[in-house]
Amino acid sequence: MAYLNINSIIPVSEVNGPGKRFVIWFQGCNHDCTGCFNKPLQEMKNNQIISVDEMMDKISSTVDIEGVTFSGGEPFLQVDALLELSEKIKKQLLTIVSYTGFTLNELKNDQNPKFKEILNLMDILIDGKYSKDNRSNCIWIGSSNQRINFLSDRYSDYIEEIVGQSKEIEYFIDKSGDIILTGFPDFNPFL
Ligand code: SF4
Repeated sequence: MAYLNINSIIPVSEVNGPGKRFVIWFQGCNHDCTGCFNKPLQEMKNNQIISVDEMMDKISSTVDIEGVTFSGGEPFLQVDALLELSEKIKKQLLTIVSYTGFTLNELKNDQNPKFKEILNLMDILIDGKYSKDNRSNCIWIGSSNQRINFLSDRYSDYIEEIVGQSKEIEYFIDKSGDIILTGFPDFNPFL
């Protein structure tokens, strides 16, 4: 069984892809994007180590979600766990959206065949490094070089629907009283 190294989860978010989604922030990233909004998630350290089955229990016990979003950090650095988790999510008939600092072409052309297997399970891939000099106000993306790639037909209606939609943010208060901000705010808390 594979294990995930994650930073955090939010069981239900409405700003990280279509509909209500369970969001997982992976720990560790080597893209070093200028103006990264998630600096603490770059560090390559063990954070919360959780088995794929345990994560699936959390996902399955969350009601009223239509899918799962992978964010980070860089989800594709944990390829074995990502593939195992993606297969289990699809078996539950949930959709998959993933952010990545790689481009779709880089993932498709990688020598590791598991990248293609993961892409085949995904519905939307939001790809490319974040660039603070090209900030975008479009829904779901941080900068204008990033692309929303529809990899399945599941969300084909959204291709027209999201044009011109602005990004949104959400605030949560966790059990310890800390405020968690998600989405793409106008300010970067790590700069
Ligand atoms: S891919 Fe995401 S987490 Fe990684 S450096 Fe870029 S913005 Fe930060």
